[in-house]
Amino acid sequence: MNTTPAPAPDEARRREGLEQRLTAVRERITTATRAAGRDQEPELVVVTKFFPASDVRLLHELGVREVGENRDQEASAKAVQVQTLDLNWHFIGQLQSNKAKSVVRYAAALHSLDRASLARALGKAMHRETERRAEEGLAPRADLATVIQVDLRAADQRTGDDGGIGRGGAEPEEVQQLAELVAETEGLALAGVMAVAPLGQDPTPAFERLAGISASLRADHPTADWISAGMSHDLEQAVAAGATHLRVGSDVLGQRPPVL
Ligand SMILES: *Cc1c(COP(=O)(O)O)cnc(C)c1O
Repeated sequence: MNTTPAPAPDEARRREGLEQRLTAVRERITTATRAAGRDQEPELVVVTKFFPASDVRLLHELGVREVGENRDQEASAKAVQVQTLDLNWHFIGQLQSNKAKSVVRYAAALHSLDRASLARALGKAMHRETERRAEEGLAPRADLATVIQVDLRAADQRTGDDGGIGRGGAEPEEVQQLAELVAETEGLALAGVMAVAPLGQDPTPAFERLAGISASLRADHPTADWISAGMSHDLEQAVAAGATHLRVGSDVLGQRPPVL
């Protein structure tokens, strides 16, 4: 017997709002992809930070499978609440090495690899996670898709407020060495590069620079073809510059509460 209850009125309203905004974002992506003369649309990762697991559930009903979070504490709790849904969690925030163990329990991908010590910590965590799963009789997990975050700010812009987004990352000159380390670390699959456009500037030159860094990376690592770039306000520029993954939060979920 199917006894699915009718949704509560606020839930129905929330679902409708999410659906409208999601549709609008998908249309923007389609338009931008055509305008760029590209034949494949980038993947939309919906960033659900600050919004409850109930929204993740609604987004799943609306066909979303790729979701992003930038803080482990929030992400791990949410992932448990919706663990029966087929979702790919993308970790997109700065990560302390001691949180690696937690992240590999739920994340399919990490977009914010910014230093060698984190690659080592993730490798160890994946090793332990593999053991844990075997002991508990669980299927092994796939390698962690690992994306190197690149800091595209000029040296004199690197201090001060980043709007809570975490505009960090490795220096462009460090990418090659980090890539080698990730590629040789068991449990990690080198996936590509990521960046956040510098605050208050035209994002296009930054995204074009990222595309250049991606091309050099792919010369040595042909399968590392992700370019994770573009958020709510600059997804069009990111698509034009070749982004393969867009990380969109507020234009789908609505305004985030201010960061305290
Ligand atoms: C929050 C966040 C996003 C999404 O930003 P919106 O402006 O809400 O679309 C993308 N990338 C990172 C790293 C973030 O922290």
